[in-house]
Amino acid sequence: MAWKQGVDLANMVKEAKVWAKSGKVADYIPALAEANPDMLAVAIYQGTDHCFLAGNVEEKFTLQSISKVLSLVLVLMDLGEDVVFSKVGMEPTGDPFNSIAKLETNKPSKPLNPMINAGALAVTNMIQGSTTEERLHRLLRLVHQLTGNEKITFNEYVANSELETAYLNRSLAYFMKQHGVVEGDIEELLDLYTKQCAIEMNCMDLARIGYVLAHEGCDPITAKRIIPLHIARIVKTFMVTCGMYNASGEFAIRVGIPAKSGVSGGILGAIPHRSGIGIYSPALDEKGNSLAGIKLLEVMAERYQLSIF
Ligand code: GLN
Repeated sequence: MAWKQGVDLANMVKEAKVWAKSGKVADYIPALAEANPDMLAVAIYQGTDHCFLAGNVEEKFTLQSISKVLSLVLVLMDLGEDVVFSKVGMEPTGDPFNSIAKLETNKPSKPLNPMINAGALAVTNMIQGSTTEERLHRLLRLVHQLTGNEKITFNEYVANSELETAYLNRSLAYFMKQHGVVEGDIEELLDLYTKQCAIEMNCMDLARIGYVLAHEGCDPITAKRIIPLHIARIVKTFMVTCGMYNASGEFAIRVGIPAKSGVSGGILGAIPHRSGIGIYSPALDEKGNSLAGIKLLEVMAERYQLSIF
């Protein structure tokens, strides 16, 4: 793999980095509060010969909400659209990612989409396997295929830190159990969900996942299909409509690419038929998106004409 330092990219990183000072690292998951807010890293994967990076690219981070894209791919591959969308909707929400409000007011009481916590819990509940370990292993196997990196695993410290404090996610899960959206043991579900969110990688790995999605599910080296075409399209569409939480509309206007962020400060981008982008900068804005990460994408979108619209 030929990763090169991008000179142009390094200048944009420098420009965007000042924004990190105005953001705040997530602290509702105690382990995430330990992140260094000054970090900013970007990787652009454009096929095996043209990959550019800049900033603190070796830094590893947990996927958090970005993992929602991967669990959705897995359950759609396992169970198909009809089953999956009988438990979770396809519509964006104007509410924060961890909100419980719409679960109560919507009839039937199913989560609006798979990119908010309630929807992601319903999706994780559908991952097939007889034990939590087997389910996680199947998800990790997909991650290994998408990244070409078999060493990727989850960060136990971050997973435990979230599991101990996930009162809101527990509430969402119990609420959905009452309404028949999720089934089984809720503590086991939370265990799997927090491990899924704690899957850890660097921005180069993340950019490669973006590339596979951008290229309709095909591996960049072997051209073998990892994700069926229609599933790659479904998840990219969710990334456009719901990927940046309740800032997805503004992001679509200012940047205009399918993207998914996580409260660790990661952003996954997939520019159809072009490239995959991985970004890391843990200082967040008030909606939970990486502040410098979004600023960097805005500059890149203008400079490289990234918008798909
Ligand atoms: N693990 C986090 C949570 O459930 C993920 C949320 C996020 O990244 N927005 O709260």
